[in-house]
Amino acid sequence: MSVSISPGRVGSEFVKKIKELSGETLQLCYQCGMCSGNCPMASNMDLSPRQIIELARLGLEEEIADSRTVWICASCLACTVTCPRGFDLSRLMEAIRLLTLRKGVDYVRPEEIPVEERGELPQIAMVSGLRKFSG
Ligand code: SF4
Ligand code: SF4
Repeated sequence: MSVSISPGRVGSEFVKKIKELSGETLQLCYQCGMCSGNCPMASNMDLSPRQIIELARLGLEEEIADSRTVWICASCLACTVTCPRGFDLSRLMEAIRLLTLRKGVDYVRPEEIPVEERGELPQIAMVSGLRKFSG
């Protein structure tokens, strides 16, 4: 997924909110890409973890919202333990998910899961998934 950045679209309020929610200092990241290289889910993401950080600190909320990456993130912490700067990317991913869910946007809606499939799905995974992906 390519992202074009036009001037004047920097969302400082978005940056402030994700800093508050994640507790992380976005400026710590120097874009080395080790997080993306070690992420087990990266091949399923349309934007790499490294790109999400860059978009986040630029305040490009719409570009992040258009991407599936934060929902694909499994919160496994592989990026966090390998980051040479001590940046906890999993907390940033969670902060972005929370901000989205607080707007009333559910990534997964139970009513959209076909009835015939509901009985087949592992119940623990269902509960866990709905907690993580719905507001
Ligand atoms: S590993 Fe750390 S410093 Fe490198 S791009 Fe990822 S978050 Fe930034
Ligand atoms: S926490 Fe998310 S972004 Fe980080 S390595 Fe795991 S799946 Fe990838």
